[in-house]
Amino acid sequence: MPSRAEKLTRGRTSAGIVAQLLLTSAAMVGIDMSGRRVLVMGVTNKHSLGWAIAGRLIAAGATVGFTYQGERLKGSVEGLAEGLDDCPVLPCDVTVEEELSRVFAELGERWGSLDGIVHAIAFAPREAMLGRYVDTTSADWVTALTVSAYSLVAIARHAEPLMNEGAAMVTLTYYAAEKVVPKYNVMGVAKSALEASVRYLAYDLGPKGIRVNAVSAGPVKTVAARSIPGFMAMYAKVAEMAPLQRGVSHEEVGNLGLYLLSPLSSGTTGETVYVDSGYHVMGMQLPEE
Ligand code: NAP
Repeated sequence: MPSRAEKLTRGRTSAGIVAQLLLTSAAMVGIDMSGRRVLVMGVTNKHSLGWAIAGRLIAAGATVGFTYQGERLKGSVEGLAEGLDDCPVLPCDVTVEEELSRVFAELGERWGSLDGIVHAIAFAPREAMLGRYVDTTSADWVTALTVSAYSLVAIARHAEPLMNEGAAMVTLTYYAAEKVVPKYNVMGVAKSALEASVRYLAYDLGPKGIRVNAVSAGPVKTVAARSIPGFMAMYAKVAEMAPLQRGVSHEEVGNLGLYLLSPLSSGTTGETVYVDSGYHVMGMQLPEE
């Protein structure tokens, strides 16, 4: 059966001409990231959302590199990177300025310039997510905000001299930045700071043609997610309440990351974009009739 666009093209109306254009250009739209170099920061294993985005970048032809925190993750990330062309795999604790300086100096020597950064990093001490938010200690607050939000600012500062016009940064956030999600506590506050930082960084870097956006993902099973108290209940709740009646896959998160790093999103910056089966649009759930 012919599509609506195909039926329209049969006429000589202006709608037919527009539809003809749409059909022609649709065949040509694709995401080609070949020749672009993207650093993905914060991969633990094949379940990491950083790896999900990296996978889509690689499929679109990009050259990727990785950073990981500490020796413990070296083997796992090197294993993932095996067989990839021109793929630096570097250690980097984002709370240590010297490590950030070393990573971007090494990338400058190896790649010369950068077209994208994926920031897939977050941490809060578990004690801070077990009890009440009101009991958060100053030390836990500083740790959560430093690792999960300030690190994006520090990375942007170190990366700026290497970033080409048209480059993009993408970070990962969660709905608890906007609304109360029980147990998320100080991590929700860190995600609010992260999303605000996305807007300020977009303003600072925009004149150089560098974009900064956040992917707000629904719950996906990863190491970090499973460490959140009550994560499996959150996971089930989304499938129950979201308009799509299911959770989101790693690949769907990866696709949004790819889009925000690619020229297809060239007019979008400072934005938090959701991939959560529509969960965040819901205001209330009623019992089934
Ligand atoms: P993940 O695989 O555990 O990735 C988190 C990464 O952050 C880990 O590699 C972790 O390393 C790294 N990290 C923590 N502290 C660091 C530091 N000081 N320096 C460098 N790296 C550090 O979990 P993920 O779920 O993919 O998390 C990626 C991002 O997605 C996070 O920002 C998370 O909040 C966000 N997100 C996740 C979900 C979800 O449901 N999974 C939903 C929305 C947003 P270690 O393993 O050594 O700690």
